[in-house]
Amino acid sequence: MSERLFRNLRGTDGGPLEVLVGHGRVVAAGPRVSAPEGVAVEDGAGRLALPGLVDGHVHLDKTLWGLPWMPYPAGPDRSSRIETERRLRGGFPESPGLRAERLARHAVTRGTVAFRSHVDLDPDMGIAHLEALLGVRERLAGLADLRLVAFPQRGVVRVPENAALMAAAVAAGADLVGGIDPLTMDGDLDAQLDVVFGIAERHGVGVDLHIHDPGPGGLVEIRAIAERVQALGLAGRATVSHGFCLGAASERDFEEVAGAMARAGVSLVTHGGGASPLPPLKALRSVGVTVFAGNDDVRDAWSPFGNGDMLERAMLIAWRAGYRADEDLALAHDVASTAGGLALGLGEHGLSPGCRADFYTVEADGVGHAVSARPPRALVVKAGRVVARDGLLIG
Ligand SMILES: [Zn+2]
Repeated sequence: MSERLFRNLRGTDGGPLEVLVGHGRVVAAGPRVSAPEGVAVEDGAGRLALPGLVDGHVHLDKTLWGLPWMPYPAGPDRSSRIETERRLRGGFPESPGLRAERLARHAVTRGTVAFRSHVDLDPDMGIAHLEALLGVRERLAGLADLRLVAFPQRGVVRVPENAALMAAAVAAGADLVGGIDPLTMDGDLDAQLDVVFGIAERHGVGVDLHIHDPGPGGLVEIRAIAERVQALGLAGRATVSHGFCLGAASERDFEEVAGAMARAGVSLVTHGGGASPLPPLKALRSVGVTVFAGNDDVRDAWSPFGNGDMLERAMLIAWRAGYRADEDLALAHDVASTAGGLALGLGEHGLSPGCRADFYTVEADGVGHAVSARPPRALVVKAGRVVARDGLLIG
């Protein structure tokens, strides 16, 4: 029987909550729901139930999570990180698939129900990482959704072979095509966007481009992306990753570029900015841009930080944004969960009837408390099935 009643939970309003799930979806939710005779029952022990977390930007193939500590090996800039990783990755002690799967499984125990992972491709290794991640996607079936981005880390003009590799990656099963800082990585805005959007158009996939470039250059890039998304009718299937320039733009520039993103249906994913400016999340949401969150690098050649926990990411984003009020912490949680479900095309995400039954429970007085304290995840439920309990995967 696919039905199950989760009782003795608390909802985000603090009140009692029961959730009846069936065929992977929420059938009924409320203080008291009627359930069929003999339905399987799970006691929530009075804990808070929250929508499943979504890691909307991660690099699973890069991670060294679970391996011996590697001190940060690169210099201070992007090109040094790229070349250092390229030099080291052949000597990493485990395959990208093993490393990716370990981190993903760990994140599931922390309440993550879906990932969008950028996956490197390069003439050095072709699309081997993408193929490995397709295997991970199969092995994660039932635990989490995994969307894959064919990511040309070194650009497509500077490394022209990457264009054919991106097309091959998409043909092999990548869900989206990626890009990176067309002006500074490739030195040619239109040339990179021609390749990225050409593949998106031919293969009918979405796009997700890393835009780290600061200042006017970054704004020019985002504006050009929005124009192409609008022209190709890719609304809801296009994302700008990071968009740090939006956090330092004049009010006028911000309104113009954010307005173009909203009209075109371009979402923004953030990991909180680190030392870079944080895009104004509330202002983006208020003009209609979907803002979601991801961990980005987790203990790899790019960063010693991260642990795969999207509840911690929600806290970091809230802290970085200067949020204090409970409703703002709830907004940060929404960015790390429900908004990601929307951006990833997972359909309705939450604890209302009809939503996919993806949620988790914690010992907390409310969402704000959960974001602040990041308590252990008691239950993680994916498509109505308990997949992790007290921090451990089941089965
Ligand atoms: Zn990234």
